[in-house]
Amino acid sequence: MTLTLADIFEAARRLRGVADNTPLVPSPALSARVGQEVLLKLEIAQPIGAFKLRGALNAVAALPADCPGVTCCSTGNHGRGVAWAAAQRGLRAVICMSALVPEAKVAGIRALGAEVFIHGRSQDEAMAESRRRAAAEGLVEISPFDDARVIAGQGTIGLELMAARPDLETILVPLSGGGLAAGVALAARSIKPQLRVIGVSMARGAAMAASLAAGHPVEVTEQASLADSLGGGIGLDNRLSFALCRALLDDVLLVTEEEIRDAMQLHFFEDRLVTEGAGAVGAAALMSGRLPPSQGPVATILTGRNPDMAGFLALMAGEDIALGDLIIRGKTYGT
Ligand SMILES: *Cc1c(COP(=O)(O)O)cnc(C)c1O
Repeated sequence: MTLTLADIFEAARRLRGVADNTPLVPSPALSARVGQEVLLKLEIAQPIGAFKLRGALNAVAALPADCPGVTCCSTGNHGRGVAWAAAQRGLRAVICMSALVPEAKVAGIRALGAEVFIHGRSQDEAMAESRRRAAAEGLVEISPFDDARVIAGQGTIGLELMAARPDLETILVPLSGGGLAAGVALAARSIKPQLRVIGVSMARGAAMAASLAAGHPVEVTEQASLADSLGGGIGLDNRLSFALCRALLDDVLLVTEEEIRDAMQLHFFEDRLVTEGAGAVGAAALMSGRLPPSQGPVATILTGRNPDMAGFLALMAGEDIALGDLIIRGKTYGT
């Protein structure tokens, strides 16, 4: 199955008026900090608080009317998107997640009427459970990232970015399974081949980065991170997202937990925006000074705003927070 720009335009037509045209806003603070124009693509303004609704809607729209229901594994936001899209069509949704998924995300999915199963300590174990339920109950499985329809849906962000700012030079994309990066890079670079698309992951357990370095999909140990939405493997049997990321990403940058913390604080105190760790990794990469310099404007995708709020508030207040075995040291913003 090959994926083309036409599939992404087709997805855009399906999303119109429901999950499209999120704001693209300047960040004066980040621009001043890094000395170049930085724009924020606010996928946090989606109805589910994350971009995953795009891919989920595009995938669910393809199902036949007599489909018995859908299942997926998720680090939280894909499950929310699938639950939302399934509810809109009156379909049963079974969402499988690991114990690493924050409670706020689990509650958000239950509130949409989906059946939630917590299984194992890793995204890979949740994926196995989703596969098992798909086979046992005749449900259609929707991969969070390795599905042509999902990738095309996420790619509509690339169309919107290029339509709004054809002069963009670089797009920073939070990177986990690579559905978002694959779709955005395919759309944006089909329109503007010289555009740079850079994936950003957390340094702790970045499966796509390790796989790209190895030249084939590899397994990594999943670890607690502020960017919990970026956890999990890419599947050793990866069919689409790995090859697309390998062909279309210029670079992948890894950021530390402290850099993610500082970027979440900047988005909150300067841009006045709530993001989860995964949504702030683009800003973290910019603030790290490790990105290759860019002359023209840079866009970073704020992919989600569904953090655990108690932890978020503590982090903003400069308190230490514990995530599993990991302690993130507190830092008061501006000090
Ligand atoms: C899923 C997700 C990502 C990464 O998307 P992939 O397609 O898996 O690379 C980034 N940010 C947030 C908030 C997400 O939920």
